[in-house]
Amino acid sequence: MAAEHQEVLTPLADVQRVVLERCTPLSPVEVRLDEALGLVLADAVTAPEDVPPFANTAMDGYAVRAEDTAEAPVELDVVGILAAGAAPLVAIRSGQAVQIMTGAPMPDGADAVAIVERTETVDPREGVRRAAGRVRVLDHVEPGKHVRSAGSDIRAGSTVAAVGTLLTPEHIGTIASTGAAFVRAHPRPRVGVMATGDELVDVGDTRLAPGRIRDSNRHALLARLRADGFAAVDLGIVPDQEDPMTEAVERAVATCDAVLTTGGVSMGEFDFVKIVLDKLASGTSGAGESRRLSVAIRPGKPLSLAFLPGPGSGRVAVFGLPGNPVSSLVSYLVIARPGLRALGGCRAEPPVRVPAVAGEALGRRAGDGKLHLPRVRVDWGPDGRLVARSAGGQLSHQLGTMAAANALALLPDGPGVDPGDRVEVILFGPIS
Ligand code: AMP
Ligand code: MG
Repeated sequence: MAAEHQEVLTPLADVQRVVLERCTPLSPVEVRLDEALGLVLADAVTAPEDVPPFANTAMDGYAVRAEDTAEAPVELDVVGILAAGAAPLVAIRSGQAVQIMTGAPMPDGADAVAIVERTETVDPREGVRRAAGRVRVLDHVEPGKHVRSAGSDIRAGSTVAAVGTLLTPEHIGTIASTGAAFVRAHPRPRVGVMATGDELVDVGDTRLAPGRIRDSNRHALLARLRADGFAAVDLGIVPDQEDPMTEAVERAVATCDAVLTTGGVSMGEFDFVKIVLDKLASGTSGAGESRRLSVAIRPGKPLSLAFLPGPGSGRVAVFGLPGNPVSSLVSYLVIARPGLRALGGCRAEPPVRVPAVAGEALGRRAGDGKLHLPRVRVDWGPDGRLVARSAGGQLSHQLGTMAAANALALLPDGPGVDPGDRVEVILFGPIS
């Protein structure tokens, strides 16, 4: 305990600053629109054409001259029919109408649409299309009624999505409506995940020999990366030996934009990751750097951080995350993820803190100099505020509590919070 109190703890904000200063956006590339979800635009998208490209009807009905309906009900001659996709080859004059379907172009001469529900066909003859007869329009329709004018969604030449936009499905649709098949965006960071530890056995291996455990970190982090919109690269399990680990990290750095390792960064005799990262950094004649940190958070204290020269011009961030399953995920959320997002072109900023109310006491040991990040379940309270309650046991191997949680509460050093107190949370799962 005394030793722990003497060790130098680095505040979380300082670690985040180091990461965010070094994780600069990857060089932009041309990306197919349908592969651009979640990417950040490096160039603005400008509309080359009006959307909609022509005036068209928002309703099924009859295109009319509004002034002809002033004395409604009124009978008009139906001189044509227009389906969506048809070119507007008909025009109307006074006393005439064209039957028209939603999305069809407005014929010349028409300036409003009478909806079909408020019309009656006059003397409809069996087997004859309504378009051939006459129609009674029951209501006066205002000019422009049910007409979607050209450019009423997006004007030609206007900005559809600005530089820095994080593309949502809705942006993708909007960009598609302007005809762009490609966008220029920062690529999706390729992030490798490597588990280290001689005790680790992969899922699916039926026999768990004495002393061995399942590798859960790798699977959790791969899934977490995918959920966060990154391209996850499975780098497998690496034994606690310096040479294989060195080779594995070198290979990873040659093929990934960033690397996550788990385990091997604390005080054990076989914790080689920190040693390997230090050696790789020092072997780069100043181009790389590494540091071993005790971050002032719980869980997630041990961390090795390296920036190693990659195949391109930039350096590859290697996050040596702790081995304990909860610690590795928490360190990912508060330290690695902000950096990875910055690589993808997002604003370089620490995780968003959301205000909530403690639904019960969230206690903690005071005086350890650390920010505690207990796993909590956050739900909407009856007054519309978010309410945070402990998700269960808070030891760093209790991954089940992480699965039951959807947020981390931020408890600065002190006694914790009482029921009803304000508490900030970092959301990582849906609020149901
Ligand atoms: P380490 O940081 O390597 O000392 O590991 C700390 C704890 O986390 C030990 O109990 C390990 O067995 C456990 N651990 C390390 N890696 C994993 C992993 N990939 N999956 C599950 N548990 C792990
Ligand atoms: Mg280990």
